[in-house]
Amino acid sequence: MAYAQLALALASSASLAAASLLLPENRYDSAVLALAIFTMSMLCFLIAFSGKLDALRARLGRSQAKEQQLQALLDHSPAALILLNKHFRPIYTNQKFHSLSGISDDSVPDTADIERLLSLISEETRQRIRSTIEQGRSWEGELHIQLADREEYVAAVASATKDEQGNIEHYIFSCEDISENKAIANRLFVREHYSVLTGLPNRQLALKNLQRTIEQQGEDASGFAILHLDLDRIRFINDSLGHHVVDRLFRETAERLRRCINDEQLLAHLGADEFLIILGEGSCSDEASIFAETVLSKVSERYLIDTNEINVSASIGISQYPDHGRDAETLLRRAEAAMFAAKGKGGNQFSFYQAGMSSQAEYRLETESQLRRAIERDEFKLHFQPVIELGSNRLVAAEVLLRWHNNELRNPGPDQFISVAEECGMIGMIGEWVMINACQQAMRWRRAGLPEINIAVNISARQFEESEIVDTVRRALQQSGLPARQLELEITEGLLINDTPNLRQCFQELKALGVRLSLDDFGTGYASLSYLKRYPFDILKIDRSFVHDIDQSQDSVTLVNAIIAMAHSFGMSVIAEGVENLQQRRLLKDHHCDMVQGFLYTPALNAEAFSDWAKRYADVHEAQHI
Ligand code: C2E
Ligand code: MG
Ligand code: MG
Repeated sequence: MAYAQLALALASSASLAAASLLLPENRYDSAVLALAIFTMSMLCFLIAFSGKLDALRARLGRSQAKEQQLQALLDHSPAALILLNKHFRPIYTNQKFHSLSGISDDSVPDTADIERLLSLISEETRQRIRSTIEQGRSWEGELHIQLADREEYVAAVASATKDEQGNIEHYIFSCEDISENKAIANRLFVREHYSVLTGLPNRQLALKNLQRTIEQQGEDASGFAILHLDLDRIRFINDSLGHHVVDRLFRETAERLRRCINDEQLLAHLGADEFLIILGEGSCSDEASIFAETVLSKVSERYLIDTNEINVSASIGISQYPDHGRDAETLLRRAEAAMFAAKGKGGNQFSFYQAGMSSQAEYRLETESQLRRAIERDEFKLHFQPVIELGSNRLVAAEVLLRWHNNELRNPGPDQFISVAEECGMIGMIGEWVMINACQQAMRWRRAGLPEINIAVNISARQFEESEIVDTVRRALQQSGLPARQLELEITEGLLINDTPNLRQCFQELKALGVRLSLDDFGTGYASLSYLKRYPFDILKIDRSFVHDIDQSQDSVTLVNAIIAMAHSFGMSVIAEGVENLQQRRLLKDHHCDMVQGFLYTPALNAEAFSDWAKRYADVHEAQHI
């Protein structure tokens, strides 16, 4: 269009100029010239104006498009936007604002609408936002909006715009609904920080809370105590009644503990059967002790799950801030160490942390984790120590002693690992492995033509807590084919403290199978002589602590003599353990001890070495008569 006008204008001015040149010189020339000049200037103006007009129109078009684009952008913005003047009067809102606020989009909301919206936010937050933006700075944060039927979360940005002089002109608010993200984040937080089973804070959150409690302690704060609680022998229940019963037991325990705590205390579920309680500020040793006693008695009340009546006890370790640690990890580790100490003393009690406990606890933890893999890695081996009959000098039995080849722990002895296996519920499994392998070994020797000997297997008291021991023995005998009379079970006195009908029933069943029962380590435990009458023991084993000085102490001789006489009066044979020299052997023989075992003959040997030893001994023992 502009080019057409320009062409037209040029053509007209060119034709007029040409006409003026062609006309006779003296006629009309001044008038024509004036007309031509006027026409030309008009045309020039027209040309110039039409160009400007085009530019203007183009610019207008462009700004309209821009405005439309801007409007589309604002309308489709996921954020609700509101523009306020410097007196906080709304002057622009986008569509999202209306849909989010529920205010009709017919018009811009009035101040009352804005006031109503702002009332959903806490007064404190409102003040903070206002003072920030009035200073010309921007505020950014999350707003929690509590509506009648639900709660919402919005991410908000508020800022001010300024004129050229730097005076505030407008305020802009932008809000985005993040309720859905927040709900997911909350769910993730819950999963990460709470126990799925009990709904209590888990270890991670407990540590955070513990750290926060520590940080809140001022210089002159009186400190506080934490309790680490662990249920005793829970794996037995797990093995016998199954996971679902144990899970319900944990839930019930959590509930009992919840009822023990007040608002200032925190209860957390650290995992499986472990709980943590953070006592409130200023909780002293006495308060912690009383609290621990209460908790122990609550936990030991009988549980009824489905039709199962379950008796459980707990061990509690207590550590105190700041005496036992100044950070959460240390305090927790030390409470755990103290808990292990309580467990080591038999459970159902509490212990305060004392220096030196950690390493023991850590060692136990490491032992436990290594034990779990010992059988599959084939790290256990059976060793055998001969038992000699004094009258005939014959090899009559072999005591089976478990050896654990584990490099990491430098081959710990049974005194170190059996108690751990008992506590972590693995003794049943290990005991069964020992029993089966011992019976099979005895049969291999029999088939290889070795003289018939009894095999004595040590049984842990914990193996009796479930009646499974009878099944284990029966299975081992069946699988190996070993005659029951050749199997002896060594049981320590400790087992007899909890004299229950169930235990006596177990003994009767074992006797009925035809195996022999030995009372091991006699004199070290709590056995009163009345036990000897009550239980059907065939053999009494005098502990080596009585034997080791009989060659030096008349008192010991008298004592050993009395034990032998008493055992005989109950119809039991006697084995003296730990015989290391000929003098001891002679004295024992003189006092009618039936059998001996000890380093005088040999320490425990592996199966092959034992068989070689037995052959050599058979060749020479009668001749030597040591
Ligand atoms: P225990 O049943 O009283 O076994 C005898 C312990 O005395 C063995 O120690 C043995 O090596 C040691 N001993 C034997 N003769 C002598 C001697 O003349 N002098 C000295 N100083 N010691 C002697 P070990 O093998 O370290 O076993 C320690 C305890 O571990 C056993 O005591 C037993 O209670 C337990 N134990 C060993 N194997 C098993 C097992 O397979 N199952 C269970 N439940 N406990 C086991
Ligand atoms: Mg023994
Ligand atoms: Mg013994």
